[in-house]
Amino acid sequence: MSQYKFPQPTSFLLEEEPRKLYISWSDGHETVYDWERLRWACPCAWCAGEGGLPGVLASKKSLNREETTLVNIEPVGRYGLTPVWEDGHHTGIYTYEKLRALCECDECRKKRME
Ligand SMILES: [Zn+2]
Ligand SMILES: [Zn+2]
Repeated sequence: MSQYKFPQPTSFLLEEEPRKLYISWSDGHETVYDWERLRWACPCAWCAGEGGLPGVLASKKSLNREETTLVNIEPVGRYGLTPVWEDGHHTGIYTYEKLRALCECDECRKKRME
């Protein structure tokens, strides 16, 4: 499959209990994300660092409840999604590729090991 036809999210669902995000993809795949895990994976310059400098996540051992509570998901163009967190953070753009790379299902894990 070429990059051009990368699967797109068709719908998402936020569940406060047990704090998970569910994404359905155009190829029929479904991914479940743990909110906290998703926040730790924030790719923005503030969280993940930039130009060789570490981001704030590198020096943190834990995140508080506000920082890991997902309140909304906003689409970014046709290539990504931005989670809006309860602490107001909303600068992380998670591309579809990145989101798929975070999928922990057996199928995706197996594919990654190939
Ligand atoms: Zn961030
Ligand atoms: Zn998967």
